[in-house]
Amino acid sequence: MTALSISEPGRDCPLCPRLHEFIAEWRQREPSWFNAPVPTFLPPDGDDAVRLLIVGLAPGLRGANRTGRPFTGDYAGDLLYSTLISHGFARGEFKARPDDGLELVGTAITNAVRCVPPENKPVGAEIATCRTFLVPTIARFPNLRAVLALGSIAHQSTVRALGGRVAAYPFKHGGQLPAGGITLFSSYHCSRYNTNTGVLTEAMFVSVFSQIAAFLQE
Ligand code: SF4
Repeated sequence: MTALSISEPGRDCPLCPRLHEFIAEWRQREPSWFNAPVPTFLPPDGDDAVRLLIVGLAPGLRGANRTGRPFTGDYAGDLLYSTLISHGFARGEFKARPDDGLELVGTAITNAVRCVPPENKPVGAEIATCRTFLVPTIARFPNLRAVLALGSIAHQSTVRALGGRVAAYPFKHGGQLPAGGITLFSSYHCSRYNTNTGVLTEAMFVSVFSQIAAFLQE
């Protein structure tokens, strides 16, 4: 079995019954939506080009679950992709559609939980189960140097996927720690809730990407 085949779940992955049922319900309600585990978004030049992996929490119901591309179709993508473009991690124009032609540069984007969870809240067992795919996703990129986890849940699942103990790697916005042979960066999630409440400002988000860009130039 190749790394690719185990890092990407099948469209009908049954491992989390609650999420499987939730998606089945939305396939009935919105048959034109993607409504399946959202695959990792890759750069056109392949796995060898990836030096930065971004790990989000889970697809948004009307965002990635609708469009099939991570962070595409809801607010979180607007801030993420504009920041990626301004730092050279993506090129083109982000139009919130998977056919907008936007390309990642040396970067891949995935989620700790590949299926949309009700209320945007996966339970612990679902986060642990979907690590079945996060672990090989991290391992598939031979030149990976940095992982950016968005939010504490993605951070904790990434620490575990790298073989670390969560207590030894506490979540901190702007955190930068060596872990499992790469460097783990962390940021508050770029959700509308976090930006509306001031937990995360655009300047705070941009500064994390400046930190990563500087690190990758070392
Ligand atoms: S969240 Fe992950 S492990 Fe669970 S059903 Fe979806 S793809 Fe499978």
